[in-house]
Amino acid sequence: MARILRFFSFLITLTTFFYIDAFAQQPKKLKTIIVDAGHGGDDYGAVGQYENSLRSNEKDVTLAISNQLVAELKKQMPDVNVIPTRTTDIYQTPREKANIANENKGDLFLCIHADSGPLQSGRRQTGTRTVTRHKITYKGKGKKKKKISKPYKAVEPVYEYYKMPLKRSGTSVWIFAAHKTSDKLKAIMHQEGQTEGEFEIEAGSDSSYNSIDFNTPEGRTIAQIYAKRYQEKSDRLATYVNDEIENTNRAALGVNQRQKGIWVLQATNMPAILIETGFINNPEDEEYLNSESGQKELAKAITKAVLRYKSQFEQSKTNGQ
Ligand SMILES: [Zn+2]
Repeated sequence: MARILRFFSFLITLTTFFYIDAFAQQPKKLKTIIVDAGHGGDDYGAVGQYENSLRSNEKDVTLAISNQLVAELKKQMPDVNVIPTRTTDIYQTPREKANIANENKGDLFLCIHADSGPLQSGRRQTGTRTVTRHKITYKGKGKKKKKISKPYKAVEPVYEYYKMPLKRSGTSVWIFAAHKTSDKLKAIMHQEGQTEGEFEIEAGSDSSYNSIDFNTPEGRTIAQIYAKRYQEKSDRLATYVNDEIENTNRAALGVNQRQKGIWVLQATNMPAILIETGFINNPEDEEYLNSESGQKELAKAITKAVLRYKSQFEQSKTNGQ
């Protein structure tokens, strides 16, 4: 009997939840976007290492692109609060970055990174040198065997070794892995700065504000639904970013889920994407990432994708898809 009652109370909770979510009177607004410049301070990220590379650091490139992105987002969306996790060269733990996003109740979390990959070594001949070698022969047999060493001159090549540039180039977009949804769940259920066990549904929308006890099995189901929705939204935004990169005629490497998981994407209570803007060890990409025109083009492409996401988000009645 108690179990049946519990089941019915769960159904009522779920129905109420969807009712509030689906029939919210006020239109939903995308209010806050968090932009995270990856790495910083003592955490350099990837470093340009191939021969004749600009020796650029990922932390500097991500900061420059993020600053451009923040400016472009503000310009195109004056009604949105755009919050960078950092604007200077400081170190932050992933937890600090996630906390900034969660405490500011972001509606979107955009992480800016640059990619790298293992570099192959090459060698080239720079000249020759004459060396003395010894030809060894033996004379006699048994205990009388004698070693005879005869010197002679030989010419051998001299090589120098270098790191070959990465061939791979382009921009890829990452979302949290499906099997890591439980971590996203934890972020939803244990958001700091809120009453324990309570959660603001669709952060930033007063009309659909509701409190749910996530320590109950029912609450857990609801949190799971939200984790899934965040993943769907993250995937949609990631797809738009990939589309816009394609429009810039640079290689768009698609939307990916990393097997290892990406901590900041999972610890944030909002849709979140990570953009690997380019390969720091590919010469064309490295130059692009370091150029103001490249940084601006990336900022514009990402902003266009966010605009598309925003208008869809605000037009949809339920925001549930
Ligand atoms: Zn990185």
